[in-house]
Amino acid sequence: MAKTESMSTICIHGGDVKDALGSPNMPLYDTTTFCFDSTADLLEVVNGNKEGYLYTRYGMNPSIKAIESKLALLDEAEQALAFSSGMAAISAVFISHARRGIICIGEVYGGTMQLLTQQLPELGIVTDFMEATDLQQLEQRLKLGVDLVFFETPSNPTLKIIDINQIAILAHKYGAFVAVDNTFASPANQKPLKLGADFAIQSATKFLGGHSDLTAGVVSGKAEHLDKVNAWRKNLGQIISPEIAHKLARSLSTLALRIERHNTNALAVAQYLEAHPAVKHVYYPGLPSAPNHQLATTQMSGYGGMLSFEINGGGEAAIALVDNLHLFSLAPSLGGTESLVSQPVATSHFGMPEQALLQRGITASLIRLSVGLEEKSDLIEDLEQAIARLKA
Ligand code: PLP
Repeated sequence: MAKTESMSTICIHGGDVKDALGSPNMPLYDTTTFCFDSTADLLEVVNGNKEGYLYTRYGMNPSIKAIESKLALLDEAEQALAFSSGMAAISAVFISHARRGIICIGEVYGGTMQLLTQQLPELGIVTDFMEATDLQQLEQRLKLGVDLVFFETPSNPTLKIIDINQIAILAHKYGAFVAVDNTFASPANQKPLKLGADFAIQSATKFLGGHSDLTAGVVSGKAEHLDKVNAWRKNLGQIISPEIAHKLARSLSTLALRIERHNTNALAVAQYLEAHPAVKHVYYPGLPSAPNHQLATTQMSGYGGMLSFEINGGGEAAIALVDNLHLFSLAPSLGGTESLVSQPVATSHFGMPEQALLQRGITASLIRLSVGLEEKSDLIEDLEQAIARLKA
């Protein structure tokens, strides 16, 4: 398929592997291995002289190859690698491309933070944290020599926007790679590789899977960079399973459609909350009042389904509000068809030192919404009743 196809068309047809029996869907190759007629045939595939399938953990399975080619088209990448989870994808990039250290900009998912601060130092991989983008400070640190600059945009949970292109130009000047966690945006709203990043990483558990029923991850980039990532994936056993690859293919066929609705619903909810007197602050890059709204508008094609807000009344009011909601279910995830709510201090960022939380604006009164695909007026009504009951 030509790379100029539109997102919806790629979602449905991209990476198609035609089935010999005529099924419009990629069949599930529920197998761990593939059989050969002779040793000579097997060696042709093992030596890479002939394209073929060999062993599922190596990624050499048609269901996995098919999902990877669709994911590569969505990311406008040379290649994509599918993983068993978002954390598997993130850790494979860190381990394969960050021996001389990492610069992490802004706030990141709590699990990523734990990996950077607790596990990777045990392997000698150290991370230098920058709270916000300060190009001068970044350049000073790059001069000291690091391999990788990593960040999320929009970030979890306060939806900060970082200029991917600006960081990529500076990092490349000093020979560092740039990896962007694109989980909150999804490739339907943002394409980090086109903006200069070397790796686009996503938890496919979220918007790509889209139904809160699968766990997976993806890393996209140039084939020459992904070779090393692939080697770690293979021997750490981080491959996506064929069953999940098959399920993810079905989810991706509606990605563009779902994201359009997530974008519309989240903007409506953000506008409603911004106008509400009980709400202290709303974090959503689609609001004209948001810092970096202009940057979000140039680097994203939609603002996404995630938003956070602070309610007046502190942590107790936030807990009461979350408990008062009916349509928004309390759960530590995002990106599904159903709307979810969580308090980052109790979920995604639980256990982070208080000082680090406050530096990132993650207060006890911060509430994160993953706005789903329900009717937006129903979602707003649910928030309305939940806030109204706070005063009672
Ligand atoms: N990146 C972000 C922004 C996330 O929110 C999460 C999980 O919530 C992850 C990565 C990790 O994804 P997974 O749970 O699929 O390992």
